Amino acid sequence: MTKVFNKISDWQKEREKIGTNKTLGFVPTMGALHEGHFSLMEKSVKENDFTIVSIYVNPTQFNNKEDYENYPDTFEDDLGALEKLNADYCFFPSYEEMYRDNYKYKVSESELSNKLCGAHRTGHFDGVLTIVMKLLNIVNADKAYFGEKDYQQYLLIKGMAEAFFMRTEIIPLPTIRSEEGLALSSRNKRLTEDELVKALEFPKLLKSELNDDQIKEELSSKGFVVDYVESIENRRFGAVHLGKVRLIDNVKI
Ligand code: AMP
Repeated sequence: MTKVFNKISDWQKEREKIGTNKTLGFVPTMGALHEGHFSLMEKSVKENDFTIVSIYVNPTQFNNKEDYENYPDTFEDDLGALEKLNADYCFFPSYEEMYRDNYKYKVSESELSNKLCGAHRTGHFDGVLTIVMKLLNIVNADKAYFGEKDYQQYLLIKGMAEAFFMRTEIIPLPTIRSEEGLALSSRNKRLTEDELVKALEFPKLLKSELNDDQIKEELSSKGFVVDYVESIENRRFGAVHLGKVRLIDNVKI
C-alpha cells in the first residue's frame, strides 16, 4: 500500500522511522503520471529500500495562468500507478503547506536560468528551484531522480544541490518517447488528435541534419509557433507552441 502524506510533520515522523541505515529514493512530479514518470519511479524502487513520489502542481513555476488552470489532474489514477509500481510513499501537499512564507523567499540562479526556457517563461526557474529546494529539504532522500526531457531543469537542480551542499544525489534518466518519437509529457493530454500527429515533426526536426535556423523555419512553416531552437555544446534544445500546448524537447547531436 502506498501511504499518502499531506502534512510535512506527518511525513517527517515517518522519515525518522526509516532512519539512516535504509536508503530513500525520491521522484518529484506534478502528477498526470505517464511512462516517463514511471521510468524514474522504477529506477528509484530498484536502487533504494524505500521510494517516495511527490505530486504537487507548483503554481509559482507557471508563468501562464491558463496553463496552470488547465494542468491535467488525474490523482486517483496516479495513486493506482504508485501502488502498482510499489512506491512506498506519496507526498501530496497543499499550497498552504508548501508556501507558509507565501513565496517571500525564493531560490534563483543567474546564468543558465535566463537562457532557453528561462528567456521565454519569466520566473519559471525561480519557481522550480524554490519548490525543489523545499521538497528536497522536507523529503531528506539519499537520491532524487529527474528526467532529461527537462534537461535545463536537471542542470539547474544539480547546480543548486551542489551550490548549497545538499545531501541528496541528483540523478538524470533518459527521455521516454512514444513509439513515433514524441517525448511523453502530461501536457500531451491536451493535444487534439491532429495536433498529436503534427507534434511528431518536432523531435524529427530536432534530430535532423538541418541547422538551428533551418529547423525554426521548417517548424514555423508547418504551423508551430517557435520559442527557440538552440544548440549548446552537444545538445539541441527546442520549445514550440502547438495549439494551446507548449512542447519542449532536447536531443544529443
Ligand atoms: P513533471 O511532472 O512534468 O514536473 O515531471 C516530473 C519529472 O518527470 C521530471 O524530472 C521530468 O523531467 C520527468 N519526466 C517528464 N516527462 C518525462 C519523459 N518523457 N521521460 C523522462 N522523464 C520525464
